[in-house]
Amino acid sequence: MGKITTTKHLFLDPVCFMEVAPDKRDFTFTYKMRTYYFCAESCRKAFEKNPEKYFGSKSSKPKGWWGRYLERLNRITGGRSQKCH
Ligand SMILES: [Zn+2]
Repeated sequence: MGKITTTKHLFLDPVCFMEVAPDKRDFTFTYKMRTYYFCAESCRKAFEKNPEKYFGSKSSKPKGWWGRYLERLNRITGGRSQKCH
């Protein structure tokens, strides 16, 4: 019986939706008790400037920004990782 690794923790850059590996946490920003990870300083700054922009605050969907975030991510990446830089 081999070990099955079910969890592969990757953080998602909310600005460009790139996956950020957990060992590459150079660019983080904490907003409303949640820590976000970014692929680059430029993405972190963009988020820092206007965090609300990335939450889709105009939506009143009950599942909130997190669901939209994942939906959008899946649509953009099509299951593949992508790069913004
Ligand atoms: Zn980025």
